[in-house]
Parts: sequence; C-alpha cells; structure tokens
Amino acid sequence: MLTVRYGCATDVGRLRSENQDSMYAGDGLYLVADGMGGQPAGDVASKLAIAELSTLAERQPITAAELEAGVRRANDRLLADGRQDPERYGMGTTLTGLAALAGDRWAVLNVGDSRVYRYADGRLEQLTVDHSAVQQLVDAGLLDPRAALRHPRRNVVTRSLGTEPPPVPDIELRDPAVGERFLVCSDGLTNELSDAEIATLLQESEDPQRAATQLVEQAVLAGGRDNVTVIVVQLDEIG
Ligand code: MG
Repeated sequence: MLTVRYGCATDVGRLRSENQDSMYAGDGLYLVADGMGGQPAGDVASKLAIAELSTLAERQPITAAELEAGVRRANDRLLADGRQDPERYGMGTTLTGLAALAGDRWAVLNVGDSRVYRYADGRLEQLTVDHSAVQQLVDAGLLDPRAALRHPRRNVVTRSLGTEPPPVPDIELRDPAVGERFLVCSDGLTNELSDAEIATLLQESEDPQRAATQLVEQAVLAGGRDNVTVIVVQLDEIG
C-alpha cells in the first residue's frame, strides 16, 4: 500500500514585489498556478484557479473527467471575475500538478508552462510538455532546448486559464510506483536551476519538505528573477 509524503515552499524571489504563484498541497491534490506576468491581477488569477480546483479535495476520490471539469470551472470563474472588474479583465494563469484519482491512478495535469517532473532511480524526467511559444519552436526543430532558456519569447504561453474558448488541459494517467518522487513547480525554479542541479538537490534531500525548501532557496540564490514555487511529492510503501 502506498503512502504519500509531501513538502512545499514558495518565495517571491529577488526582483518581484509580489508573489503571483499559488499552490495547494494535500488530500491527493498537488497543484501549482503561476499568475501571468504582464497581465493585470496575476495573483488573483492564480488564487482563483487554485481555490476552484481545491474544492475537488472534498470530493475524493475523483475521476479524470471531474478533474477536467474542475479546470473548466476555474476557467469560467476567471472569465466571470474579469468581466466584473476591469482591473481583472484578461487575467490568466498556468495550472499544473498531480491528482490522485479513483482506482489508484494518478493524473498529471497541465495548462501552460509550469511543470511536473518525476524523479526515480537517480533520473529526472519532465512529464509535462510546456504550452509555450519556444516549445513549439523546439518541437519544430527550429530551436535548441538549451537556447530556449534565453529566447526573447520564452515567457509567451500558448495555453492558459482565463481564455475563451477554454483551454484543453493535458491530462495523463499513470500507475503510481513505490519510491517515485514528483516535483511540481513554477518556471521560477526551472529558469534558474538546470535539470542536473534539480536532480542533485532531490538526491541530497530524502525528506520532501527539506527538498522543497532547498530547491526554492537555491533558485533564489541563483538569481530569483521570478516567483518560485515547489511541491515535492513522495510515494513510499507503508510497512
Ligand atoms: Mg513564473
């Protein structure tokens, strides 16, 4: 039987005046939303999206269809809120994470360019595909993935919450395995630390809370040019 341990941490970083990332961790839901910069009310957008999705915790166990419906409701809520308040009109957010589903399966969810990684057997693997302009260039073979980190359009997200028509979320189902660790994070982490640095920090910190704290601290030390949010989820066997 699997048991879940998790840890989470967030930091405003060194350049931004407010933290527009939001998260929810616990009850089989591990979600990060990154309110979109350059748009009004990014902090409101990420908070609303997480507030809507977190209502799923009360309905556990949920199905993939219920998760998808939750994303749809969050999108509707952002649009409705934006219509009522001109300062919030056009607000948007990414949303990514993990959800425990009925039938002992897990869903990896993504809209935007926040990410979910799997770490197991010393290997870090990105499970989500960014919905971003640079990812499209990488997919087309027009841009080297390493050059994408410095590309002028690296912040352009091609799918987000708060849009009409509503975004189609990527939802991938997985069977959980003992010893797996998952990392749910905003781009404030992955723009500062390389995959190798992230893997090393996960390797060094067996405790998920310590791992999350270390990852955020190191991203801030490395530059902290954006808000940084990290959830580390660890699957262990009871016994
Ligand atoms: Mg960000």
